[in-house]
Amino acid sequence: MGGLNILVRITAIVFMVEGAIMLVLSRFDTLSPQMAIVIDAIFLVLISSPIVFLWVIKPYVDAQTLDLRRAKDTAERASRAKDEFLSHMNHELRTPLNAVIGFAQLLQYSPEEPLSDAQKDYTDCIIGSGEHLLEIINGMLDMAAIEADRLHVTLENVHVKAVFDASCNLMKPAASARSVTLINNASNNARVAVRTDVVRLKQALLNLLSNAIKYNVPGGSVILDAEVTTDGMLRISVQDTGRGIAQKYHDRIFKPFDRLGIETTLSIEGTGIGLTVTQKLAKLLNGRLGFVSEVGLGSTFWIEIPLAGASALLWTDDLLLGVEQLDQDHRKLVSLVNAMSDHSLSTHQVNSILEELITYTQDHFAREEAVMAACSYPSLSDHREIHRRLAAKVTDLAKAWHTGKDPAVMTELLNFLRGWLVKHIMETDKQVVPYTQGHEAEIRAALNKLKP
Ligand code: ADP
Repeated sequence: MGGLNILVRITAIVFMVEGAIMLVLSRFDTLSPQMAIVIDAIFLVLISSPIVFLWVIKPYVDAQTLDLRRAKDTAERASRAKDEFLSHMNHELRTPLNAVIGFAQLLQYSPEEPLSDAQKDYTDCIIGSGEHLLEIINGMLDMAAIEADRLHVTLENVHVKAVFDASCNLMKPAASARSVTLINNASNNARVAVRTDVVRLKQALLNLLSNAIKYNVPGGSVILDAEVTTDGMLRISVQDTGRGIAQKYHDRIFKPFDRLGIETTLSIEGTGIGLTVTQKLAKLLNGRLGFVSEVGLGSTFWIEIPLAGASALLWTDDLLLGVEQLDQDHRKLVSLVNAMSDHSLSTHQVNSILEELITYTQDHFAREEAVMAACSYPSLSDHREIHRRLAAKVTDLAKAWHTGKDPAVMTELLNFLRGWLVKHIMETDKQVVPYTQGHEAEIRAALNKLKP
């Protein structure tokens, strides 16, 4: 009855307003009969609109809303039923399937009752098909669990190097079976700790590595790499030299069960859900997944996950160059960056560490350049230029920090420092090491000269 009540009130108000306007206009003798008709027409439309709304549009909208609500309830019931079904199927499907695969494997490895060649082929087929089916089931169950918020992740500070090493070791047999070289640069470049779930990160990484190997060409390569981004993430990339993915397929790549037509052209096993699950896992890990690809050249898939907070840079012995003073310097720089990452520090403390870091970096660069000169390192001028650019970037960021004390600038500075320190040591400084051999005395003398 609320609707009728409103209608009566609106009508009364409209009549009152119309009456008032007519009265005012007639008092000033400006109300012509035509004008009265126009005003009447306007007010008639005004009065009839709520009537049309209440008796025609509203019942129609209400009926539609009810239909939508019913459809939503039905969809939710169906989705709950699907989740329940899948969670029961988890056990019901996997157990017999594992038995099928397991017993077929037993048949193959029974020395007392060796199989004929034909029987061996049949059991190979049973095992292959069983494993393929298991892969599909696992993918579907993971997808369903993620969609139903049932897949829980345990986030902890993780040293990713172990994840990279383990994933590459696992994928080595598949790579060599396809004559693909698997190169792990990530373990060198990622000294950082990330905040993630180890099992799920490994699952995502294995999916990407597996695709990079599967869709590669014989004699091709896969490079696993990692670098810190300026917004506090670790970007783990998997680059392949495979067939690439045509632009027209790019918006279909994360759709479930879509194999982009590959199933008709190549006999490469797959389910079309690996990337769908990987994308969902990346989101669950507070990260993101992306790719670039060019037909004929290959693809690079990357996943970005957040860095752990404070003291994220990890020192390990493979950062050692074997030149004592430089190793000492690098270790000190790592500890200064870690000290500056401590969120509990006051601005004053951060500033004094930053000042020490800038001075120390300048002294370190001078020492490193003296070492390079002492051993006649041929790329000294290039290396000096790299130092100059690094120092300039740090100085710029430090200036920006001093100007606004903006925490985002400090995060950018810290991420930059974390990124370049390890990359610079592993990629640039390591090139100097071979030239230092046999020049220990000259290096000592050059460093002594620098001491104040
Ligand atoms: P699957 O590999 O099981 O088919 P995915 O979801 O992992 O499923 O990948 C979907 C499709 O994307 C693949 O079928 C393939 O066509 C394409 N694809 C994925 N990764 C690559 C890659 N590295 N190079 C070329 N194509 C790829």
